[in-house]
Order: sequence, then structure tokens, then C-alpha cells
Amino acid sequence: MKIGIPKEIKTNENRVAVVPSGVEALIAAGHEVLVEQGAGLGSGFNDEQYAAAGARIAPEAGAVWAEAELIVKVKEPIEPEWKRIRPGQVLFTYFHFAADRKLTEAHLASGATCIAYETVELPSRELPLLTPMSEVAGRMAVQQGAKYLENIYGGRGILLGGVPGVAPARVSILGGGTVGHNAAKMAAGLGAHVTILDTSLERLRYLSDVMPPNVQLLFSNRHAVQEQLAEADLVVGGVLIPGALTPKLIRREDLKSMHPGAVIVDVAVDQGGCAETTHPTTHENPTYIVDGIIHYAVANMPGGVPRTSTLALTNATLPYVLQLANKGWKQALRDNGALQKGLNIVDGKITHQAVAAAFGTFM
Ligand code: NAD
Repeated sequence: MKIGIPKEIKTNENRVAVVPSGVEALIAAGHEVLVEQGAGLGSGFNDEQYAAAGARIAPEAGAVWAEAELIVKVKEPIEPEWKRIRPGQVLFTYFHFAADRKLTEAHLASGATCIAYETVELPSRELPLLTPMSEVAGRMAVQQGAKYLENIYGGRGILLGGVPGVAPARVSILGGGTVGHNAAKMAAGLGAHVTILDTSLERLRYLSDVMPPNVQLLFSNRHAVQEQLAEADLVVGGVLIPGALTPKLIRREDLKSMHPGAVIVDVAVDQGGCAETTHPTTHENPTYIVDGIIHYAVANMPGGVPRTSTLALTNATLPYVLQLANKGWKQALRDNGALQKGLNIVDGKITHQAVAAAFGTFM
């Protein structure tokens, strides 16, 4: 099969959908891979590395879209790319259709088969192509939090791990899922005093088995959240109720009970955020201050570390890319129920229940 890897053109998107080792695996399986010139540069992979792995380098995007039967991307095709999509072409990427009617209509009209990373779902209900980005964001949350606690950024001037004779910082993590678990690991590793709050007792039991002794586990309710906020130097927001807006666990008035210069890293900003005072920010301008509390709410945190994020994402996507290429999309989906859940659009129709529900249409 001919597989195309266009360069991502969305602003500040430096990830790439397949790395040279992935190209090598696809070529070894008998496929042809066409990579747009410069597609991997933002993640530290040059054209020579792709060529050495066996890819053909296309001088511009048009050639990739015109030839490939399967297009593998990172972000949804944006408007300048829509005219390039060919009927029957298979697109495998993040789409997030439910949030964007125009995007959905363009893909319905294109006649393409759209398989979305974000809805590929294992029988355990895990979303294996979203997990790696939550791992990156959770770990990065602590790095960013540590930085903004520094005095020069308006922070409390507290070192996460403390030093002998000086208490470590208190880190409160709302939500003990993938983001929370990874944030806790980093903060605990630096020596901070960490508390994770979650409403799932099952999850708290699991975390209590795997977390080090400087991580405390609390059932999440209004009282516990308020107590934590009053003590915390760094708060990480990692709550998710799938498909819903994040519950506002941190109210505006709560900020007054917090230490001035404390930091909230609200990773859950993409679903609305855990704090009433959260609004999305960018890597160029990541923070703002409300009532003396520093808010960091970058909506695409993994974009700040594109090399790590690309490697993490492609580790997870490549097995699915291989299945699609080896078997053709229909057979690959018949054989793999997780991948089947990724099918969002085919033949101008929405085929995913949640996406259809978002537009009030029927499948
Ligand atoms: P997850 O489903 O693995 O974890 C969410 C956790 O929140 C679950 O353990 C759940 O029990 C818990 N929870 C639900 N209600 C709660 C409450 N009231 N109090 C405390 N805990 C509660 O989700 P995840 O993968 O960790 O993602 C968390 C959020 O981070 C999502 O909104 C996700 O989209 C977002 N995210 C953002 C970025 C970014 O760049 N900003 C990157 C990756 C993920």
C-alpha cells in the first residue's frame, strides 16, 4: 500500500506521524512510504534519515495527498488540506470531530474514510492513542509547576524537593488517572509531599499499591479539595469525566484561601479545566495570574516537547498503521475491535455514536 506522511501545517504543531524507524517497519512489510520534505524536522528527524529508512521524499504536500492510499497524520486536516483529500482515501489521525462541525462536514463531503486516534478504544475502555499524550502532559505539569514556583515568575520561591532541614513543597493532584499518576511520579521523585485526590476508590487502591510513601491518597470531595488548596504550593488539574466538561473543583473564591504565589497547572483545560478561573493559554504565553495564583493552562502541552511526544505517539500508533496497511482498513477493523471504535466517517456518513450524537444525527 502507498502510505503518505504529510508535514503538519497547524500552527505550532511540530510532531510527525511516523518516525524513520516506523518507515523502516512499513517498508519491511512491503509498503511504499512517501514523506513530505521536512515533515520530521520539528521533531528532530531529517529527510536523509527518512530516505535511509526507505521513504521517498516528496517535495510538497500535493504529491503526498495525490498518491497515498493511506494518509497518516497527527492533527486533523485543516482547511488548506481539505481540497487535497481524495474519495476513498483512508485518513488516520487525531480528528476531534465532535468539537467542530465545519471540520466534520468537510470530511463527510470528501468521501474519505476517517479513523480517529482519539476514539480507538481497548476492551478495558482505555484510549491507547490518547494515553501517551496524557503521560507527557502529566510529567510536564510538574516540570512547569516547578518552574513557575520560582520567584522570577511570581511564584512562592519554593523548591519542590526542599533541602535537608527545609520542608519540601506540597503538591496536590486532582484526578489520579494517567495525567495524575504521571504527575505524582515526577513530583514524588523530586521529593515533594504529594497528595492525589480521586473519586474512584478502585483507582485510589491501585495507586496506593504503586506509589511511593511520599504520595498520600485521598477520596475527592469538596471538603478534601478545600483543605488541599489551603496548603498546596502546586496544584495539578487532571480530572476527566469522559465526554463531559470538567467539573469545577476549584471555585473562584477558593483562590483566596491559597498561598499567594502558588501555582495551578490545569492540564484538564482541554475539557474546560478544573478551576473556574481557567482559560486556555499557549506555549508563547503560558500563564496568567488571578488573585495572586499563577495559572498555567496550555491546551497542547505535548507540543512543547515534540520529540518526546512524537516518539511516544508513534510507539502507540505504529502497530495500528501496520494493521491498516497490511490488511486494508476493512479487514483490519474486522479483526481489531479497538481499531473499529476509531472509525468516525465512511462514505459520507458518521459511524461513531458520540460524534453522531454531537451533531444530533443518526448513524
Ligand atoms: P483519566 O481518565 O486517565 O483520569 C481522570 C481521573 O479523574 C480518573 O481517575 C477519575 O476517576 C478522576 N475524577 C473524575 N472526577 C473526579 C473528581 N470529582 N475529583 C477527583 N478526581 C476525579 O484522564 P487523563 O488521561 O489523566 O486526562 C485528564 C485530563 O487531561 C483530560 O481532560 C485530558 O483531555 C487532559 N489532557 C490535557 C493535555 C494538555 O495538553 N493540556 C494533554 C493530555 C491530556
